[in-house]
Amino acid sequence: MNMQEMLNNIKEESKIKLEGATSLKTMEELRIKFLGKKGMLTDILKNMGKLSPEEKKTLGREANLIKRDIEALINARVDMLKKAEKEARLQREAIDVTEPGVAISLGTKHPISQVIDEVLEIFQEMGYEVIEGPLVDTVFNAFDGLNSPKTHPSRDLTDTFYIGKDICLRPHTSTVEIRTLKDKPVPFKMISPGRCFRCDTPDATHSPMFHQIEGMVVDEGITMADLKGTLDMMAKRLFGPETKTKFRPHHFPFTEPSAEMDVSCFKCGGKGCNVCKGSGWIEILGCGMTHPNVHSVGDVDTEKFTGFAFGMGVERIAMLKYGIEDIRHFYENDMRFIEQFK
Ligand SMILES: [Zn+2]
Repeated sequence: MNMQEMLNNIKEESKIKLEGATSLKTMEELRIKFLGKKGMLTDILKNMGKLSPEEKKTLGREANLIKRDIEALINARVDMLKKAEKEARLQREAIDVTEPGVAISLGTKHPISQVIDEVLEIFQEMGYEVIEGPLVDTVFNAFDGLNSPKTHPSRDLTDTFYIGKDICLRPHTSTVEIRTLKDKPVPFKMISPGRCFRCDTPDATHSPMFHQIEGMVVDEGITMADLKGTLDMMAKRLFGPETKTKFRPHHFPFTEPSAEMDVSCFKCGGKGCNVCKGSGWIEILGCGMTHPNVHSVGDVDTEKFTGFAFGMGVERIAMLKYGIEDIRHFYENDMRFIEQFK
């Protein structure tokens, strides 16, 4: 093979190979193969010395042209590959803002919390202050302060969890009435949600741990009409604007007079169904005008100030509202149960 043929070969081979190269790495390898110190073209240029001056001139010029072509081809091709690589990277890293995001799994508010929040909101809108009390309280705050007679059955060891002679797990949120009367000057309006404890064997409607919401108002000139108006409004907000209320006389040691409030059945509207057991009415809470003996715990001027108080079971309201048939579902932490109340 003479030098002319070798040059022709290099010209063809370099064109095919360079145009077919798809990576910068291959480009570099080809550059070394053709133009490197030991490259094919360099080899030829080195051997030009053996040629006649005439051949040296023509072939030398041709070799330099090929060298220039190869260099130009390499540069153009490297530019193109770099550009393509950048595009590919941008494509890879591009964020499509229209793509749906990864759904974050949010928890569900427990139906007990939902009822508490709903009731608190109603009373907060009426200017009530939310006050919470400790779960462990004194026997005085749980019974004596509330005008409860020493012989009241709820004081029994079989009914209340005693921690010591004078300390117990609070059997109702009414303890917070006594705490507030001691702590706050009158007048005040307070609402107090929280957990309570009684020695009950768990069944479909009983649990040794449950929740109550307590409310208390002390001011000048408070009457039974204020109590009825307030609780009637709460019932309409909680169960719907068509809800009717009725108050039945009852007895509690801490209120006089005392009453139990029924609401018209929100399922049948009063016609009678399985929820209201055919009566058209559902018992919701206990209430009454606070006994002066209770007010006197807080040194309230009982001639000047009157007030009312009420307490309701949160589980009972949640069970009625959501049609839950067993109180134990609330405490089992079964997500399948809780997720139904989204
Ligand atoms: Zn009904």
